[in-house]
Amino acid sequence: MRKINPRDFKLARRGTSREINRQIALTLIRTHQPVSRADLSRLMETNRANVTLLVNELLEEGLVREEEQNESNGRGRKPTSLFLNSRESLAVAIDVRKTKAFLMLTDSTGRQVGDVISFPMKPDPSEFVRSLAWQVRKALGGTLDSTSCGGIGVVVPGMLDLRNGTVIHSPTLRWRNVELLDLMKQEFGDIEIHLENSGKACALSQIWSVRGDGTALNDIVFVSVSDGVGVGIVVNGELVRGRHNTAGEFGHVPLSIDGPPCACGANGCWEAYISNIATISRYFGSSVADRRPVPVERSECTIESLIAKARANDGKALAALQSTARYLGLGLASIINVIDPSRIYIGGEITEAWDLLESTVKDAIKERTLSSELGEASIRIVPAIEFPRLKGAAALITAPAFAAPKVA
Ligand SMILES: [Zn+2]
Repeated sequence: MRKINPRDFKLARRGTSREINRQIALTLIRTHQPVSRADLSRLMETNRANVTLLVNELLEEGLVREEEQNESNGRGRKPTSLFLNSRESLAVAIDVRKTKAFLMLTDSTGRQVGDVISFPMKPDPSEFVRSLAWQVRKALGGTLDSTSCGGIGVVVPGMLDLRNGTVIHSPTLRWRNVELLDLMKQEFGDIEIHLENSGKACALSQIWSVRGDGTALNDIVFVSVSDGVGVGIVVNGELVRGRHNTAGEFGHVPLSIDGPPCACGANGCWEAYISNIATISRYFGSSVADRRPVPVERSECTIESLIAKARANDGKALAALQSTARYLGLGLASIINVIDPSRIYIGGEITEAWDLLESTVKDAIKERTLSSELGEASIRIVPAIEFPRLKGAAALITAPAFAAPKVA
């Protein structure tokens, strides 16, 4: 079985190793199903007795089911296989961003059902939740109850208090102490609701994701570059939450204390150098918090159109992106020095321009990492088309054994 650092174990919550083994078992069943107990023990590199204990527990909780296979193995008894238990109802995944929110439906194994839709974001939380209820009802064909909807997972760019479902602070949305869960309960009744920070959800989606081998790496970091910068950290197979569930806010670590103003109110945060807004502002020769009226050309410029300009040989656009690439690499070097992860995943619209940015990012990483091994850290791009934030939101419902503690 995957090892846990025994010195960390005392600090971790009770039952941690059991939790991790359950997560590994569930991932392996999901990615290899139908899978026999014997295969599962091989995949987990552990003995049959351990697997029997784990599987019995998962069967009892209804998370997996076991079925007899048709063909006999020739020894009289028909072999049985394990499957992840699927529910009929759909999970709703919501990704909340600065100007738009995105909605995706998935089946109970997290597979996408239908197209991703987007709708304008309302800055007022109550208005947002009302429009969200309307959109969810429409997506589910008019009905909205716990039979049609298996649960709603919402990812928010900001710090969350999961005990009471409050958004403590979201610089991107300019929300402070918003009781999001209570507002949602008023609209969604007894439907299960889970909230999560977007960076953490992206990291969860990587632990849960199917990447062929089915085994997640133990130490990973996900950096989501969008309107803001979200970071999720997994160490020893567990998402790092910290005492108040707010750990991982690398986006607000200063690159320079005299740098450009950040949405959080401070100066020179990493986010103020690399967010999409920062890159676009750089193209127009101004800083993020420039209070002057936004010219029409600038308000219509998106990171996608900026990338298109760079590809059409607009030198200024390319330079703006290259600067972002350098700052991205410098910040990543700090994360690598601190966490020494097995892999860093990078998501967000800017990954569409990775061919233009990669060498600059990697040079900056090499420049500031403290050893040559760290300088060679593995980086993997997660294209926007894979919807890591929505996948993470869906995993809150479809992978309860993985995801955040239940808040509802
Ligand atoms: Zn900041």
